[in-house]
Amino acid sequence: MSVSRLPLHPEGPTFSRLIMGYWRLMEWQLSPSALLDLMKYHLDLGVTTIDHADIYGGYQCEQAFGEALRLDPSLRNRMEIVSKCGIALTAKPEHALNHYNTGKAHIIASAEASLQKLGTDHLDLLLIHRPDPLMDADEIADAFITLKQAGKIKHAGVSNFTARQFELLQSRLPFPLVTNQLEISPLNQSTTLDGTLDQCQQLRIKPMAWSCLGGGRLFQAPEYAPLRAELEQIRHEVGVEQIEQIEQIEQVVYAWVMMLPSQPLPLIGSGKRERIAAAVASQSIVLSRQQWFRIRKAALGYDVP
Ligand code: NAP
Repeated sequence: MSVSRLPLHPEGPTFSRLIMGYWRLMEWQLSPSALLDLMKYHLDLGVTTIDHADIYGGYQCEQAFGEALRLDPSLRNRMEIVSKCGIALTAKPEHALNHYNTGKAHIIASAEASLQKLGTDHLDLLLIHRPDPLMDADEIADAFITLKQAGKIKHAGVSNFTARQFELLQSRLPFPLVTNQLEISPLNQSTTLDGTLDQCQQLRIKPMAWSCLGGGRLFQAPEYAPLRAELEQIRHEVGVEQIEQIEQIEQVVYAWVMMLPSQPLPLIGSGKRERIAAAVASQSIVLSRQQWFRIRKAALGYDVP
């Protein structure tokens, strides 16, 4: 099975329905050639969109990815690269504490550093990583416009923004913000009812969904035992084929996220081939409305009012 594709916004870009998240890349401990093999593996499956951020791996992930890509630069034409900026970590000695910086100079410098590390001349999408209490919408807009005019980014968006913050930044821009990258999972359902996903529907933009599996907590935390049991039950009902070494409950979770009418694009957080393949196969799972609500209830521990 290959992955379908979706426009994030009527004016683009078009991304793969499931996206490869590279936050944990340094944990995978891959040589450049092993990483190149992994990239080819998910590109061949149709997972062509790649999610990075300047800070991932203590500012090391983009560099490691770029080293692998330099072994076969032709792969760049087969992928869409997303990166983010706006968080400043003490992993850089000049930062005395972790803080946010959404000033124009920081955004432009961060995007240019991402291009250099990744070994590419443009990002398909640049996101502001988190809302910043000191953010000045005019400054962010100025940075986005400057980067877009220079051809360094194709599109702009945000992450973890409330609907009001999104609306504010959009009001300063002559082009659309094309996504809001959000934590969306049975373990964190807040955006399903607080207006954030409603805004995505209203504007016809598709959210990107991070930590669909709760960063792995789904599989371990004792409090999610009822959720795991319900997912296992539903997995049998929908007839997900047994794949060796794969915890198929995660496939039901991806299906649960993708069933939201705003059509979130789930980010895959694992570098293990069988888990990437399982995520891809989850596209064929169709949940009933009642199954969706059973998962909601098992995760929250209470019924709808
Ligand atoms: P996730 O899928 O919720 O969690 C991935 C973790 O779950 C990995 O440690 C993985 O371990 C583990 N896992 C997966 N399947 C498992 C299984 N069957 N049994 C046990 N453990 C399992 O996703 P995430 O990594 O937290 O986030 C995905 C992507 O979202 C990131 O790479 C990043 O691109 C993006 N993100 C964005 C933000 C933001 O603020 N915008 C925040 C966080 C993440 P293995 O490695 O062993 O497979």
